[in-house]
Amino acid sequence: MNTTLPVVPATPAGERPRLDARGTSTRGHVRASWGVLGFIASDTALLAGYALLGHVSAHAVLMYALAGLGLFGTYRLGIALGWHQRLRGMLLTLVMTPLVSLQLLGTAFWVPQVGLLMLMTLIPTVAMTALILPTRYLGALCLLLGACSAMLVATHGAALSLPMQAGAEAALTAIWFTMLLGRVATLSVRGTQLRNALTQKSADLAEALQKLEAIATHDELTGLLNRRAAMAMLANEAQRADRSGQAFSVALFDIDHFKQVNDTLGHATGDEVLRRYAAAMLGATRAADRFARYGGEEFLLLMPDQPQVHGALQVADRLRLLTAQHPWHEVAEALAITVSAGVATQRPGETTAQLLARADGALYAAKHAGRNRVQAG
Ligand code: GH3
Ligand code: MG
Ligand code: MG
Repeated sequence: MNTTLPVVPATPAGERPRLDARGTSTRGHVRASWGVLGFIASDTALLAGYALLGHVSAHAVLMYALAGLGLFGTYRLGIALGWHQRLRGMLLTLVMTPLVSLQLLGTAFWVPQVGLLMLMTLIPTVAMTALILPTRYLGALCLLLGACSAMLVATHGAALSLPMQAGAEAALTAIWFTMLLGRVATLSVRGTQLRNALTQKSADLAEALQKLEAIATHDELTGLLNRRAAMAMLANEAQRADRSGQAFSVALFDIDHFKQVNDTLGHATGDEVLRRYAAAMLGATRAADRFARYGGEEFLLLMPDQPQVHGALQVADRLRLLTAQHPWHEVAEALAITVSAGVATQRPGETTAQLLARADGALYAAKHAGRNRVQAG
């Protein structure tokens, strides 16, 4: 009679949560089914107590126990058939809750001596359902149960009661009440656990999204913005410049004779050079500037607040000098690294592709002029 569906147990500490918000984990439901059996056993024992005191018939106890076992069997069958995962985890609940309610209302009808206990036991049943079903199903269920209870009260209201005679009978009823309170409290705890699990999942999701975004916009080797992110920023900057009328500049850097580094010192050393170069440039650029990996050993510097080419040339040349002065011997003995750069300042009406083409042309010119130098396009 207290056969409220037990709460699906929480995931043990330290284990990755395997429940979703609606509790569709198979293991959880199997454990919950043992809880159902426990409820049936304890309720039957209490009813048997009432029967011994002559308050209800032995026949009623037997019927209750059989109905309870039927519920347990249905629950296990539902799990075996995967109902707990169907209909977004709701099917098993949609089957079980009406059955449990039917058992409670049926018992109230046939054994009105414990009728009020049965009606009260409906409360944790519906509360448990509220954790799983969406509002519209829950509303429909409440209306249905409300209508059935009202009919029961209207037709049998005078007979429905609680075993409250002093002594053993009252003690049994007190135990029943305590168990009901325990179930309601357990449900609140479970509700809190589900809420916490949801909060945790949202936090995990936000973190995963953040990581994905970082992966999508950053270069794995150097940690710099990647080409895609750089192009997006360039497009934004071009729009801003169109609106404000204030031009910006870009510089394309290319490491000189980098192939030789790979060829003589190995690809791993080449990678280390790229990483160190990126870190050094990040440390040397201003907050408003953006330094990105444009290609293999090519880098793009976006300078939003350099509207004049001579200012942009100075910035690029400072970075060129810093590169040449970097303690590359820490990477490999006698290693020397220089860069060439092409600088371009946006002209009115110019597209970003045209701007980059000019910077690239200037870089090509710098290479041809002997490398380790900066040219304007
Ligand atoms: P230049 O002065 O004309 O730029 O000569 P270069 O050798 O730097 O130019 P080139 O384009 O011939 O070679 C670029 C090299 O950069 C070839 C390629 O293997 C290397 N490279 C590109 N990406 C990476 C990377 O991620 N790691 C390493 N180690 N090497 C890379
Ligand atoms: Mg290159
Ligand atoms: Mg190069």
